[in-house]
Order: sequence, then structure tokens, then C-alpha cells
Amino acid sequence: MECPRCGSAARVMVKSPVGDVWEVYVCETCWYSWRSTETPVIIDKFKLDPAKIGELGVIPAVPPLD
Ligand SMILES: [Zn+2]
Repeated sequence: MECPRCGSAARVMVKSPVGDVWEVYVCETCWYSWRSTETPVIIDKFKLDPAKIGELGVIPAVPPLD
């Protein structure tokens, strides 16, 4: 399964406790998650390049600690 946000491999994180009703998937590269009952649509503006994830800033910025 491919992550809709960054294109990396995703895995099943959890399945419905009763029956086989739904699953939740998670990407271990960008941590995007989604349910099998929805069809995620990520517009191009919000897609991520896995190679650049490590360069992303922290928002909000962590203030200097004394
Ligand atoms: Zn991802």
C-alpha cells in the first residue's frame, strides 16, 4: 500500500475490533494515516517529498530553552 501524501510504503496500523469492518493505515515515513472507509485525496500543494521531510521546519518553533 502506498501513502497518498508521500508515496512511501504504508502498513496496517489497526483493524476494527469487531468484524472486519475497517482498517487504519499509517505511513512510517510522514506519519499520515487514513481509514479504509475513506479515499484520501491530497492535493499536490500538500504532498511531501520523503527526501525533504528531515529538512522541514518545526511549527510552531520551539523557543530557546534557558
Ligand atoms: Zn507518507
